[in-house]
Amino acid sequence: MSDINDSSVNRSHALSGFPTDAPTAFHLLAKPTGATCNLDCKYCFFLSKEMLYPGSRFRMADALLEIYVKQMIESQRTEEVTIAWQGGEPTLMGLDFFKRSVEYAEKYKKPNQSILHTMQTNGTKIDDDWAAFFKKNNFLIGLSVDGPRVMHDTYRVNKGGMGTFDQVMHGLENLRKYNVDFNILCTLNTANADFPLEVYRFFRDELHAEYIQFIPIIERATFETLPIANQGWSERPGGDRPLYIQAGDLVTERSVKPEQYGRFLNTIFDEWVRRDVGKIFVQMFDVALGNWMGIHSLCIFSPTCGAALALEHNGDLYSCDHFVEPAFLLGNIQETHMIDLVASDQQRKFGKDKLDTLPRYCRECEVRFACHGGCPKDRFIHTPDGEAGLNYLCAGYKLFFHHIDPYMRTMADLLRRGRYADEIMETFAGEAPAAGAEKEVRTPRSRHKPRH
Ligand code: SF4
Ligand code: SF4
Repeated sequence: MSDINDSSVNRSHALSGFPTDAPTAFHLLAKPTGATCNLDCKYCFFLSKEMLYPGSRFRMADALLEIYVKQMIESQRTEEVTIAWQGGEPTLMGLDFFKRSVEYAEKYKKPNQSILHTMQTNGTKIDDDWAAFFKKNNFLIGLSVDGPRVMHDTYRVNKGGMGTFDQVMHGLENLRKYNVDFNILCTLNTANADFPLEVYRFFRDELHAEYIQFIPIIERATFETLPIANQGWSERPGGDRPLYIQAGDLVTERSVKPEQYGRFLNTIFDEWVRRDVGKIFVQMFDVALGNWMGIHSLCIFSPTCGAALALEHNGDLYSCDHFVEPAFLLGNIQETHMIDLVASDQQRKFGKDKLDTLPRYCRECEVRFACHGGCPKDRFIHTPDGEAGLNYLCAGYKLFFHHIDPYMRTMADLLRRGRYADEIMETFAGEAPAAGAEKEVRTPRSRHKPRH
């Protein structure tokens, strides 16, 4: 695993044909700065992935950028291709890097293809220039915010340990000033998971977010690594830090508890289903409704996975963003075209293992159709009868999927009859709202069907 050099650029080859079993499309998160970030969020175990590339400058070379964009477009047999950037913090590459990325996409896209550019960012670097660029090129921005100031600043701190709320809000103001599309990405951890309505209403009413994604923080550790892991994953002068890998059946003190996760989702759902359907899109609810209709739109809640890969700054391709570790390295796209790596036996086995390793407890579970055992990275506890491989969040998933079942059945039925999911709000308008959910319903109501 070495960084790109000029001679290696020439080893890239054009795609002459699709390998058998190549997927029609796949998702890829590219990390142009590797795990390098200007912040020091305490739960961010990705920071430790810098240890995979000792001595690296952690900057994707321009030649590799072109190879990546070209191969990504060549590999997709769909009309829309997503070029997705993540980190670390991708804005550290500077604006010119992304201008070139857009130019390469225009150069290589096929006549019938459109390109969706996305970036996941902590938002602290977004000034007028960035926001104008995002708007001009229709970027969809995922902005990390953990809730109101006190919750956000608990763990989302800079290198000096100071909260970053003000810088993030400044970045958001710029996004809003230029009317850039954005999603809120909120991690759930011990600082905010007991405050579901405060978090949800902050996003809805103060940030005016329409798309919200909640990501449970689960930092695994072993008995040996737990004390160090509890201190965080950034480099500390004279201090140890372990390379984070998916191992161990303990979790850090910041990690969300399973039932806490379920209660959080249930409380928000109760407010959402009475007043926000069709206006606010919470990824978990959207995906669940899809599953109630037999449509799988998110790997975590699908029977198999393996179509969401991660690309490091030097061209190394990994099975998944959550498995950027040596055992899950597929190869380097400068040496092997990415479609060959995506269609490889190793990657197909990775995706199929999600199903093949499902414990009997899950196979017999009433809400298996909605859950499918969750993400393999979180399957590190034992079932009640002692089988390994149950999802750490199982108790929370059960709480949530059972709670939403009658509502999901109603919405799925409406959609099957060609109606709109938001009609459910009339059905449940007479029911007591969740405690404190007494605010006026906003008008006018949109009539969007859920995105799947
Ligand atoms: S390991 Fe988890 S996040 Fe990665 S592709 Fe599979 S289900 Fe998705
Ligand atoms: S809710 Fe629990 S038992 Fe049921 S499929 Fe999900 S992880 Fe398995």
